[in-house]
Amino acid sequence: MRKAILGLDLGGTNIKSVIFDPVLNKIIFQGQIPTQAGSGVARVVDNIVSSIKDNLAAVEKSRRRVTALGIGSAGLVENGIVRNSPNLPGWQGSVPLLKLIRNKMPRGDLPVLIENDVNCLVAAEYAIGAAKGYSEVVGLAIGTGVGGGIIIGGRLVTGAHGGAGELGHMTVKMDGPLCKCGNHGCLEAMIGTDAIIQRFRQHSHSDAAVTVAQISKLAKSKDPAAIKTLSETGKILGTALASIANIFNPQMIVLGGGVIQTGKLLIDPAKQEMLKRAMPYNAKGLKIRTAKLGPAAGAVGAAILAYRYSAKSDNPEIN
Ligand SMILES: [Zn+2]
Repeated sequence: MRKAILGLDLGGTNIKSVIFDPVLNKIIFQGQIPTQAGSGVARVVDNIVSSIKDNLAAVEKSRRRVTALGIGSAGLVENGIVRNSPNLPGWQGSVPLLKLIRNKMPRGDLPVLIENDVNCLVAAEYAIGAAKGYSEVVGLAIGTGVGGGIIIGGRLVTGAHGGAGELGHMTVKMDGPLCKCGNHGCLEAMIGTDAIIQRFRQHSHSDAAVTVAQISKLAKSKDPAAIKTLSETGKILGTALASIANIFNPQMIVLGGGVIQTGKLLIDPAKQEMLKRAMPYNAKGLKIRTAKLGPAAGAVGAAILAYRYSAKSDNPEIN
């Protein structure tokens, strides 16, 4: 019977799931159900458990057996406890997610790994995506929030309490706007979607509702305010990339998340700024690539980490 790993990605809107073949590195099934994050922790836990049940039942019909479960969640994750998850209302404190799920899920013997969602995304890009074949990799996912993940020597860096890799909360402007984390001038508060929309409103002198996708479209049709918005945002991103280059000296930085879909008009100014600011030897040869695996990357990474965790029953070493 072939092995399969169940990976879940707990997002503010949907719980995405994949059944992943860890030998073929291939997605077998994928799906999603609404998170219903606004209905509170108990409802979200029920939805996670129902996704687990449905997926296990689906796999049983095939000639496979699920041997591990991985879950990616926003927030700081340590030993199955999720802390400070700002996109899940009611989750601002500590939520003992592993314990809550274990009490309700079938197959109580199944090894379960819970990891930060962007760490999962970076693990997936490292294992089978844009950074395959590299051992020193930093990932940055830019959307409403800005998250990061760090791989050094082929190993995911989790820190003393699961809080490493929060690259979105490096200060890039001393007295900048207030961030959700309580600090001022974090990268997230400067280049997350809200900040980009705010910047566009200033440059276009308009308060009309607009999305980053619309700003991107306007920029491609040569709208000066939209171009200026993306170029300024790119420059700020570039300052952060320079710090990442200097601190970690990675071979590659992988950029993911919705904001990166804006493409060259954001990424080219970011690269130029990085080259201006980073120490030349660290910038030399540094590859900046966009993520390859798309919306399923978080769930795939959770599955990959869970597989390696269950195989080694040690920390989630991923090489
Ligand atoms: Zn912050």
